[in-house]
Amino acid sequence: MRGKGKAYHAVSVHLRGVRELHQVSPLFFTVLTLCCVFRAVTPYVTVFFSARILRELATLRRADILWKWVIAGVLCVGFVSALGAVFQRRYQTLLRDLWGRKEILFIRKMFSLDFSELDKQENHDLRAQIRQNENWSGWGLMRVQNVYGDFVGGMIGILSGIALTASLFTSPVPDTAGGLVILNHPVFILILAALMVAVSILAGKFSAVSTKCWSSGAKEATLGNRLFGHFGYIGMDKERGADIRMYEQQKLVSAYWEKSSVFGANGPFGKSARGKMGIYASLGVCVTTLITGSIYVFTCLKAWGGAFDVGSITQYVGAATAMVSNIFALVGLMGTLETNTGYLDKTFEFLDIPNAMYQGSLTTEKRFDRRYEIEFRDVSFRYPGSEFWALRHVNLKFRVGSRLAIVGENGSGKTTFIKLLCRLYDPQEGQILLNGIDIRKYRYDDYMNLFSVVFQDFQLIAQPLGANVAGSMEYDRDRAYRALADAGFGDRLSTMDRGLDTMLYKNLSEDGVDVSGGEAQKIAIARALYKDAPFIILDEPTAALDPIAEAEIYSRFDEIAGDKTAIYISHRLSSCKFCDEIAVFHEGRIVQKGSHDALIADETGKYHELWTAQAQYYTAE
Ligand code: ADP
Repeated sequence: MRGKGKAYHAVSVHLRGVRELHQVSPLFFTVLTLCCVFRAVTPYVTVFFSARILRELATLRRADILWKWVIAGVLCVGFVSALGAVFQRRYQTLLRDLWGRKEILFIRKMFSLDFSELDKQENHDLRAQIRQNENWSGWGLMRVQNVYGDFVGGMIGILSGIALTASLFTSPVPDTAGGLVILNHPVFILILAALMVAVSILAGKFSAVSTKCWSSGAKEATLGNRLFGHFGYIGMDKERGADIRMYEQQKLVSAYWEKSSVFGANGPFGKSARGKMGIYASLGVCVTTLITGSIYVFTCLKAWGGAFDVGSITQYVGAATAMVSNIFALVGLMGTLETNTGYLDKTFEFLDIPNAMYQGSLTTEKRFDRRYEIEFRDVSFRYPGSEFWALRHVNLKFRVGSRLAIVGENGSGKTTFIKLLCRLYDPQEGQILLNGIDIRKYRYDDYMNLFSVVFQDFQLIAQPLGANVAGSMEYDRDRAYRALADAGFGDRLSTMDRGLDTMLYKNLSEDGVDVSGGEAQKIAIARALYKDAPFIILDEPTAALDPIAEAEIYSRFDEIAGDKTAIYISHRLSSCKFCDEIAVFHEGRIVQKGSHDALIADETGKYHELWTAQAQYYTAE
C-alpha cells in the first residue's frame, strides 16, 4: 500500500511538472510527443520493409514486386526519418528555450513571495539547492521532460513491437515438423512471452539500481558544484585579480581542488562507476542480450519447422529486440521516476511557499485633494525568527501635506517603520490605518500606489536612464526630464549624448554609462518623483553624500514635494531641521515628538543629546 502511495505520488508530481512546463512553453510537449513517436516507430518501419524484401528474395524472386517493396520501403523510411529529424530539431530548440523559460516559474514565485518569506535564508537555501540539483545532472523540473519522452517513446515502441511480433506466436509450425510442433503449444508460448517480459523487467531493475547510485551522491555533487561555481571562475573575478597575483591564491585553489574534486576519476562517482553503478549497468545489458538470444533461438526453431520464411525471421528478431529494449528502458525509467520525485518535491516545496499575508480587497480612494491620513496605533513588530522588538508601542499620525522627519541612531527602528508603512511586513501588535481603515483591508497593489519610496539600498537596473526613471519602456519624456532636473541630475544629463536613452551600467551594453553613488541616488529620487504618489519617503537616500550636500537635497526636496506628504529619515539631524514634525526613535520606540525648536529646548531629551553630538562634528567640518 505504501509502495502504491509512493508510485501514485511519483506519477502525480511528474504530471504536475508537465503542467507547469506546459504553462511556460505551450508547444513543447506536442513537439516532444511527435518527436518520440517518430523516433520510436522508425526502427520498426525499417524492420518491416527489410523483412518483405528478404522474403521475396528468398522465395519467388519476382523483380517487379521486389522493386515495389524497395521503393515503398525507401519512401516510407525516408518520410518517417525526415519527419523525425524535423521534430527532433524543433524539439532541441524548444528544449534549449525551456531551460530559460522554466526560470519564469521561479522568478514569478520570487516576485510574489511575501516580503518576509523573501527575507528568510531557508528559502534562498532551498532555491540554491534546486538550482544545484538541476545543474549537476538535470534533476528536478527539467528531468520531467526526459521522463515524459522516454515514457511516450517506450509505450509506442512496445505497441509497435507487439504489432510486428504477434504473428511470431500465432503462426503454427506444420504437423510435418515432428517434435518442433511443441512450439505451437499455448503454454509454451505463454511461458516464452512471460519470460520475455520478466527478463526485461529484471534488466530494467538492474538499470534502475545503477541510476539510483548516481542520485545517491546528490549531496556530494551539490558540494562539487559549489566548489566548481566558486573556484572554477575565480581567475575571472576582477576584484580578486590583485590578491591572486600578490599571494598566489591559485595554489590554495588547486590544492583544495585536487583533494576534494567530486567529479574526478577518484571522486565518489568515479568510484561508483567502477563498482556498484558500473556492475549493475552491465548486468542490465547482459540480461537483455540473454533474452535477445532466446528470441533468436525460438524464431529460428519455428522457421526450421516451417512456420514462416526467412523474411519473417528478420522481422520478428528485429521487432522483438527493439521491443525488449523498450521494455527495458521503460522499467529503468521507474528508477529515474522514483529518484526524480525527491528532487521535484523540493522544487514544489519552493513553488508552493504559501503567501500568509492577508490580502484585502478594498480599493484606495482616488483623492485629488490627496487627503490621505496615516496613523500608527500602538504598533509593535519583531522580525520573523527574532526575539527582539524592532518597534515597540509606536503611535504616530501624519498630517496631510506635512513634512515628517524620523530621526534616531542607527538600529533605532527607522527603516523598519517605513517597511511596515509600505506593508512589506505586518505588525504583530497594533494597527496601521489609512483614513481610519486597517491597511491590511486594502488591495496591496492599490495601497502601494500611494507611496514613492527611495530606499536606503535602492537598486537601478541596466536599462536606459529614462526607462529607469519611469519604471517602464514607454513613458512621458518631458516628465522624466523634469523629474531628473528636479532631483538635481539636470547638469549631468546635459552631458549625456543619448540623453534619456543612455544605457545605465556596462552589464548589457558596451556604451553603457557607469554612474557614481551620488548620481545614482539622484536618479532614484527622480524615479520617486516621476511616480507622483501622495506620499514620498526618503530613507537616508543621501548616505553617499556629505552632510552639506544632503541638507541641500532635503531643502530642495521640500520644494519639489509640494502638496505631498513627505517623510524624511536620517541620522543627520541637521538635514531634517526644517520639518513640521520630528519623531525621535530610540531602541524601537518614539521617545520624542515635535518641531526642531521645541525638541532642542528640552535639554534632557534624546534629540538634544544627538544634536549636540553631531553639531561638534559639523562645526569641525
Ligand atoms: P535604522 O533604520 O534606524 O538604522 P532598522 O529599522 O534598520 O534601524 O533596524 C532596527 C532593528 O531591527 C535593528 O536592531 C536591526 O538589527 C533589526 N533588523 C533590521 N532588519 C532586520 C531583519 N531583516 N531581520 C532581523 N532583524 C532586523
